[in-house]
Amino acid sequence: MTEKKTFLQDAGINTRLSHAGPKPADYHGFVNPPVVHASTVLFPNARAMETREQKYTYGTRGTPTTDALCEAIDELEGSAGTILVPSGLAAISVPFLAFLSSGDHALIVDSVYTPTRLFCETMLKRMGISIDYYDPMIGSGIEQLIKPNTKLVHTEAPGSNTFEMQDIGAISTVAHRHGCVVTMDNTWATPLFFKPLDHGVDISIHAATKYPAGHSDILMGTVSANAAHWQQLHDTRIQMGICGQADDSYQVLRGLRTMGIRLERHQQSALALAEWLEGREEVARVLHPALPSFPGHDLWKRDFTGSSGIFSIVLAAESPDRFRAKAHAFLDALSIFGLGYSWGGFESLAVHVNLSDRRICKAPTEGPVLRLQIGLEDVADIKADIERGFAAASAV
Ligand SMILES: *Cc1c(COP(=O)(O)O)cnc(C)c1O
Repeated sequence: MTEKKTFLQDAGINTRLSHAGPKPADYHGFVNPPVVHASTVLFPNARAMETREQKYTYGTRGTPTTDALCEAIDELEGSAGTILVPSGLAAISVPFLAFLSSGDHALIVDSVYTPTRLFCETMLKRMGISIDYYDPMIGSGIEQLIKPNTKLVHTEAPGSNTFEMQDIGAISTVAHRHGCVVTMDNTWATPLFFKPLDHGVDISIHAATKYPAGHSDILMGTVSANAAHWQQLHDTRIQMGICGQADDSYQVLRGLRTMGIRLERHQQSALALAEWLEGREEVARVLHPALPSFPGHDLWKRDFTGSSGIFSIVLAAESPDRFRAKAHAFLDALSIFGLGYSWGGFESLAVHVNLSDRRICKAPTEGPVLRLQIGLEDVADIKADIERGFAAASAV
């Protein structure tokens, strides 16, 4: 291990984010790695070409730019290896394809990111893989759902849109006893607030589109494996011809440098707003794991070191036939919040959440669920915007 790596191991998170990845001395002292646009890599002679005995052999298999990002992520995740894929969704579908075969069974958390469920219900089912969805709060009770052919347990905590927590350690222990691979979509927390591999997870998944990229302009996913699962993940990536792009990799590495301070701000603002929203009569419930009132808060407190900038509110509504009208009135009155999908960028976003795909974690009954991504704007201005939303919703 180099001197630099040794000092980084014990350093604070912002120090590590600032220095993770390649050393400037490797690139003539330039602070950032070069953006290498490449398909062909030349070999010095026929023998080297035949044996492929050099570090880089073809663009799909990695470049100094993609390696720089993968190295930085390995340092943050504590993983044996990381692959880059073209989107967060691909960071879920690729490991599923790596570890599941026809005739296998997989357990998927019911509060899962909706497109993950779509992948399971379409492509995985077509391949002869059966799926069951489980309650996020199941803990070690997941043992009862494991069948002889169960090969993979997929977790996501907090859950998408409704933020249910999971006992990742307990689930991993039981899953491993039965020989299952444990995958986790850790997009919400990033490796700053939760390190899946330290809690028994084998494969840590991130939509780098969100906080790592941070500016609503990049699509990328990262998949990081522990030593036991790295080879299979790596081989799948090669077999499928999936690779990260040069400019996007560079931008995500750039995003990582400021992710710590951005997240600190997202966390503070979101928590301040969540606490304020809890006291409002227009709000039936605030779904934010860092609030003591939230079911699953104890798990968050035990395992996570912070909370990010996205949570939901359940707007109080008298009857279900008003849900849509109230939600739309609220959203249409907003001017700082944009109405758009995704999150993790610098700007606030709001969306009326559709939970109709849920089988176990049913939608709240008190009113429509509105997901708020709290951006880097000033809290007072965001509050004023939400007040405009409340006024419009109350008039419905
Ligand atoms: C956004 C998101 C993804 C997918 O990321 P894309 O890059 O948009 O495909 C996956 N998981 C979670 C939890 C997400 O929020």
